[in-house]
Amino acid sequence: MGLLPVQLRFASGNTSDDYITRQAWLSASLSCCPLHPKGGCSFARHGTYRRVKPAGTLILRWYCPQGHCTFSLLPDHLAARFPGTLDEIEQVVATVDQAKSLEAAADFLRPDCVSLISAVRWTRRRVSLVRTVFTLLAGMFPSVFQGCALTVADFRLRLDCTTVLVQARHLAHDTLSTLPRPLGFIPPRPGGGG
Ligand SMILES: [Zn+2]
Repeated sequence: MGLLPVQLRFASGNTSDDYITRQAWLSASLSCCPLHPKGGCSFARHGTYRRVKPAGTLILRWYCPQGHCTFSLLPDHLAARFPGTLDEIEQVVATVDQAKSLEAAADFLRPDCVSLISAVRWTRRRVSLVRTVFTLLAGMFPSVFQGCALTVADFRLRLDCTTVLVQARHLAHDTLSTLPRPLGFIPPRPGGGG
């Protein structure tokens, strides 16, 4: 097991603001050790860690000393292994979808960036991650997404919601460990920059 915690889903049902003001991480729980579901290990709570964004966000951790493994419970509104919330990333992609070019969207989204090149890089990274997730979801749920364009608008329409990525955590709840960030919990490749 690596040093990074294994991420597990916390279906908190909270918005980002609710999660922080209600300190919803305190209600997160794990009934047993994922490595030793029959018990017998010294699995226990292991404090919290702080996400830089959104400010004030804490994530609850557990540790199994026998398995040398830390587990963290990631609430549905947060991006996995990526800064910020799923909604923030989705909004970037929705903006790109409707812009006349990725450069125009980047210029609009990141007016504070030191250069257009870095704004484009910031934007492209998010678009690329979400398109990959959309492609995988379309393959996993053909009856839902058949003939669907890989756009936020089309995915919102098919899922009848305004927050596709959060909704996708419900939809793909039993395969999150096999899906890439920011939706799923595949650990970063060693040396891959995480
Ligand atoms: Zn254990």
